[in-house]
Amino acid sequence: EKVLVGNKISEGHENFVMAYNMLTGIRVAVSRCSGVMKKLNDDDFKTTKKLSFNMDGSELTPSSKYDFKFKDYCPEVFRELRSLFGLDPADYLVSITGKYILSELGSPGKSGSFFYYSRDYRFIIKTIHHSEHKQLRRILKDYYEHVKENPNTLISQFYGLHRVKMPFNKSGIRKVHFVVMNNLFPPHRDIHRKFDLKGSTWGRITKLDPTKEQNLAQYTLKDVNFLDRHESIKFGPHKRKLFFAQLEADVALLKKINVMDYSLLLGVHDVKKGNTFELSQKLSVFDPKSNDKSILINTNPRDIDREFDLPSNVFPGRSKYVFYGHDGGIRATNEDNEPMGEIYYLGIIDCLTNYSIKKRLETVWRSIGHTRSTISALPAHEYGDRFLKFIKVGTSSSKKKSS
Ligand code: ATP
Ligand code: CA
Ligand code: CA
Repeated sequence: EKVLVGNKISEGHENFVMAYNMLTGIRVAVSRCSGVMKKLNDDDFKTTKKLSFNMDGSELTPSSKYDFKFKDYCPEVFRELRSLFGLDPADYLVSITGKYILSELGSPGKSGSFFYYSRDYRFIIKTIHHSEHKQLRRILKDYYEHVKENPNTLISQFYGLHRVKMPFNKSGIRKVHFVVMNNLFPPHRDIHRKFDLKGSTWGRITKLDPTKEQNLAQYTLKDVNFLDRHESIKFGPHKRKLFFAQLEADVALLKKINVMDYSLLLGVHDVKKGNTFELSQKLSVFDPKSNDKSILINTNPRDIDREFDLPSNVFPGRSKYVFYGHDGGIRATNEDNEPMGEIYYLGIIDCLTNYSIKKRLETVWRSIGHTRSTISALPAHEYGDRFLKFIKVGTSSSKKKSS
């Protein structure tokens, strides 16, 4: 089977057992959490549920290939969040655990996190540091309230927070925390270039290999690349206003919960270049289950102006579905609010880094010899202001003519 990104994980892979346990745990925990939804109370933000898996199985757990323990954090809260984000419970289970084919993205980066894509590419599992897990639990209530008030929030959509605990090297124990979140990029639309933008220029460049024929899509470009290439997010006045309002609300939350180091992840689809996928493949994943517009809009609330978007000849005879065509992307527009040749897939990612003592030390250290606006470690307020400013300056439909 073809895997879109990363390496396929199958039996024998060093992380196969961990991935298997994660998915088995989610499947059992999520299907158990299915009674009537009640109004959330404060306890729901503290509840944890433990499940024990082994070969024999138990009343609560089916027999499992491996021995491990699974912990589910605030299951009712995440169930409610999934519903706010428009996920169908059955779909979620099938997508994430239907078949044990996962792909792992490269080797762990600076943070040491691993990323796994669900088979249908809709969801990402990211392993997180213990401190990030604590941070998410600490802010969960604020996050939940924010999502309720901001259905179009650009901040990562968290669908679950879990932990697996399993034997490791004969006598050791390995504990791994992880979140399930939305993949910002669509399953069946090519992303021609992507940027990870923090609003800092300090070290924020991806060096491209000049000897290879430049296939931009394989790189994650950064702030300096964005500036050097004179890139911009092209939104006319209408979308710009909506976009800025949402960014401001989101950054206000990120300041309030004292996080930093987050990025705007931006994927650009160039309409002229088009797709290497068939249209039928595209529709198979996101085929809407309803003709009711309001339901469709709710299915993926990230698009700030869905109805306005795709030219109607893309899905001839299916005008009802027209605005659904972006899989959550947002069409570029010019100063007259008319569509332009790019579709953006964007969101704010990696937002669980608390401005901790460690960062405070880093700020002092980096301040020596570098001006404060170019360094990357800053208190949450300054970080947020700088981030917002960078994105706003980088958003303009007039800066560059449609390519
Ligand atoms: P670091 O702390 O060193 O920045 P990290 O391990 O915390 O790294 P992230 O910054 O969360 O990792 O993500 C790294 C890369 O993975 C991103 O630049 C992006 O290319 C991809 N990625 C992360 N989250 C998503 C997402 N929700 N959708 C699509 N791609 C993502
Ligand atoms: Ca990051
Ligand atoms: Ca990080």
